[in-house]
Amino acid sequence: MKKYIDKLNSVVNLEELEKLRIEIFGKKGVMAASFAKLKNLAGDEKKSFAAEINTLKKELNDILNQKREFLKEKEIEEKLKAEGVDVTLFDAANESGALHPVLATMDKIINYFLNMNYEIQEGPLVEDDFHNFEALNLPKYHPARDMQDTFYFNDSMLLRTHTSPVQIRTMLSKKAPIRMISPGAVFRRDLDLTHTPQFHQVEGLVIEEGDKVSFANLKFILEDFLTYMFGDVKVRFRPSFFPFTEPSAEVDISCIFCEGDGCRVCSHTGWLEVLGCGMVDPNVYKAVGYENVSGFAFGLGVERFAMLLHKIPDLRSLYEGDLRLLEQFK
Ligand SMILES: [Zn+2]
Repeated sequence: MKKYIDKLNSVVNLEELEKLRIEIFGKKGVMAASFAKLKNLAGDEKKSFAAEINTLKKELNDILNQKREFLKEKEIEEKLKAEGVDVTLFDAANESGALHPVLATMDKIINYFLNMNYEIQEGPLVEDDFHNFEALNLPKYHPARDMQDTFYFNDSMLLRTHTSPVQIRTMLSKKAPIRMISPGAVFRRDLDLTHTPQFHQVEGLVIEEGDKVSFANLKFILEDFLTYMFGDVKVRFRPSFFPFTEPSAEVDISCIFCEGDGCRVCSHTGWLEVLGCGMVDPNVYKAVGYENVSGFAFGLGVERFAMLLHKIPDLRSLYEGDLRLLEQFK
């Protein structure tokens, strides 16, 4: 009988333990057999044998229960080990994300103007004809509307083609002075190497009472901004046309790829066009009920800035979600 103490102690799993329990305590087990023997004994012999097997029974029972607890815990531990997540499997340090180059560029642009005390203003992506065109000196049948391929919902509602309607909304809701930028998504029906149907703009507007704001102010801020963005570049203003500014200018920087010598990217001109700007057209003031004010506006494409900053040749690659590109921006 005592050999069962060793047997119990050497059991390694619950299944084996259960078998052994039946062998000892089962109806046909050794314990039952021992008690059966008791019937054939008498007197002191019976007494001492009974005491012996009762002690042994208690001892075996204690060992069995201890062993069962131990094996149960061991089994749970092993199960956890097998099924648990190994948090050391991936090296978190090598799997960090990064801002998308468009968002990172947007942040960089916004940062400059926040430091210059500009406010951020936002507006709806679904606009009406008045805010997107009419109030910006683009009346119906104005030929300049052809410059923009618009997604229309119906005759009057559309996806905004630029962030300029935010300028209109801001001017309609408060008086000068205004110093704001409106960053955000815009939409046009266009898709090729340098155009996507959705892209992002940052537009700026500064308005003061009287004639405090001049083209010189506009020139200063944009030259300073472009130096902040692209480093030591030359900046030039070219006369241009926009319906909502007069006079208007397009702004070029010296080519950052060839430093002005001429290359494929700059079409061998040595210059890269980066934004449009001008003094706010009097008709825009009229549309929002402003009088006796002066101001300028400018606008730029964030994707174009991102492409130039990171020398990305195809605009569409910014939106393909290709990890080989995105991982370069960690
Ligand atoms: Zn060039």
